[in-house]
Order: sequence, then structure tokens, then C-alpha cells
Amino acid sequence: MENRFDMIIIGGGPGGYSAALYAARSGLKTLVLEKFSAGGQLGQTHWIDNYPGFPEGIDGFTLAQQMQSQAHRFGAETRYEQVIRLELQAQPKRVHTAKQTYLAKTVVFATGANARPLGLAGEEALIGRGVGYCAACDGMFYKGKTVVVVGGGNTAASDALLLSRVAEKVILVHRRDTLRATKVYHSPLLNAPNVQFRWDSEVVALQGQERLTGVTVKNLKTGGIEEISCQGLFVSIGRLPNSALAEGQLTLDDGGYIQTDGTPQTEIAGVYAVGDVRNTPLRQVVTAVADGALAVHQAEFYLSQQES
Ligand SMILES: Cc1cc2nc3c(=O)[nH]c(=O)nc-3n(C[C@H](O)[C@H](O)[C@H](O)COP(=O)(O)OP(=O)(O)OC[C@H]3O[C@@H](n4cnc5c(N)ncnc54)[C@H](O)[C@@H]3O)c2cc1C
Repeated sequence: MENRFDMIIIGGGPGGYSAALYAARSGLKTLVLEKFSAGGQLGQTHWIDNYPGFPEGIDGFTLAQQMQSQAHRFGAETRYEQVIRLELQAQPKRVHTAKQTYLAKTVVFATGANARPLGLAGEEALIGRGVGYCAACDGMFYKGKTVVVVGGGNTAASDALLLSRVAEKVILVHRRDTLRATKVYHSPLLNAPNVQFRWDSEVVALQGQERLTGVTVKNLKTGGIEEISCQGLFVSIGRLPNSALAEGQLTLDDGGYIQTDGTPQTEIAGVYAVGDVRNTPLRQVVTAVADGALAVHQAEFYLSQQES
């Protein structure tokens, strides 16, 4: 089986397939290695309303399929294999899966990130049925409803603020007695008439089978238990980037994201990081696909220099 490629893309989410489309369309021999199924987090996304070009929105599964077939139309190939080890300084670069070793002139990390879950019983089954991890993505579904936000950092604070403009009531549950978020969030949140706080508290259980109907909150100081009836729960306690493969070869920032120069370029020539796995201020489909295009633009320049 052919194992030499101009570009190997690790991960078949939106960032990966955008890179695959641009690379294949530019005539680069392109392979996407995906460990599960095309689409990445799109597979968990019931409906996407903020990706331009779909005025009525589109379901995540269909969008993922369309991104994959568009890249395949220009000759990109997908193989369903998990990348387990990389040699990024080698020339050509080596990409190891359990099945074989691939050789690549350029490598794109498009391995994405996952939300850090609370780890509560029933949480996974209620994702998209009341439980969410991205208020910018799903907040609009909670117009006029009561939502609980968990967390106290910048993401939780900005999620709570965003939701306060949509939901009827927002209850922020935080383990400490003050926000960790930067000061800029404090007064807008504390002054918002429809935002309440449960300090020193944790969500300890979820209610609802088909959909979330409420949460159980425990006060860590008093041990008191409160049942809150709500339609939405946004978990904003951080994300876990899938960057383990880069460890020891690329610098990761404090959050574990691959350090880039503000574009997909990493510190190794010919190696790029796109979408949710890199240090970027916004993690959305639209930013991941923009990164994919930019990575290929940079890779073409790199390859032209190698050849000259
Ligand atoms: C529930 C939910 C709702 C969302 N709603 C929206 C929305 O409405 N609008 C919006 O713009 N964004 C939304 N997002 C965010 C959006 O889905 C992500 O920003 C986007 O998918 C990131 O794309 P990516 O290509 O960087 O990574 P991902 O989509 O995470 O894809 C990464 C891929 O890499 C694969 N992979 C990882 N490691 C390996 C390995 N070692 N070998 C091979 N393959 C590997 C994974 O299996 C995965 O398929 C939502 C996310 C979630 C979870």
C-alpha cells in the first residue's frame, strides 16, 4: 500500500478536511488519517447555525460527510487508522500507525480537542439533550429557558454572559467563593439581573432521561443540597486538547495546546497545527477550516523552498 505523501493530515475533523481539500486541489498527494469517523466534533453537534453558507443551518453529520467528499473529489484519501507516534524532525517525516509507517513531506495536526466533562452519571447520554460544552455553539437553543453554567474561569464567565442575553435565568455554579475570570467579566456578570450565583458549590448529579430536567448542587462548605430545575447545563471547566502525540517534539502551552506563531505554523518547518488543537482564541468550525486553508498555503511555500 502506498505510504509516501506530500501531506499527511492527522484527524478528519473540519480543520483536517479543509486542509485536505486545499492540498489535494493544489496537486499535493494528500492522506487523512482518522481514528474514528469523519467529522470529529461535528459528529456530536446536532445542528450548526453559525457556519456560513447554510441559511437554515445544517446537521453536523451531513456537514462532515460533505467536507470529506469535497476533499475526496480532488483526490485526497482517507484511511481509518490511529496515529500512535511521530518523528517530525526526520526527512521525510515519519507517521506511525498500528498498521504501518507513512512518510510525509509535511504533517498537519488536526487532532482537535474535547471538552473536559464533569464525569457525572448520565452526562454523556444527555449531550445535545440539555448538556452542552459550548455556549457560543448551542446557547441560542435556550431562549427564555433556565440554564446552569459550571465553572469560574474566563470561558465560564463569557458563557454565562452570553447566555444571560438569551436565557431567562442563568445560574453560575462555582467551586470557589469568587470568579477566577479576569476582572472585565466581574461587574457585567454581578450586575446582570438574570444571573444568580452558587458559590463554593458543585453540580453533583443530573436529572432527566430523554432530556435534562434539572441538576443537584452541593454546597461544599455547608454540605447543603439544592435541586435546581433547568433545561440547560453548560460545562465550562476547560478543554482537553488531543496533543499527546506532539509531546517532546513541539512546545505545548499551559493548557496543553500546540504552540504556534499565531498562524498554523509550529516551531518545526513543514509541521502545522490547525483548529482546536492549537493555541487560538476561538475554537469553532469556521476558524478550524480557515486554519486548514492557511496551513496548506504555508506548506506550499515550504515545499517550493525545499525543491529550489
Ligand atoms: C457539542 C458541540 C457542539 C458544537 N457546536 C458548534 C457550532 O454550532 N458551531 C461551531 O462553529 N462549532 C461548534 N462546535 C465546535 C467545533 O465542532 C470544533 O471547533 C471543530 O470541530 C474543531 O475542528 P478540528 O478539526 O480542529 O477538530 P475535531 O473536530 O475535534 O476533529 C479532530 C479529529 O481528529 C481525530 N484524531 C484525534 N487524534 C487522532 C489520532 N491520534 N489519529 C487519528 N485521528 C485522530 C479525532 O478522531 C477527530 O475526528 C461544537 C462542538 C461540540 C463538541
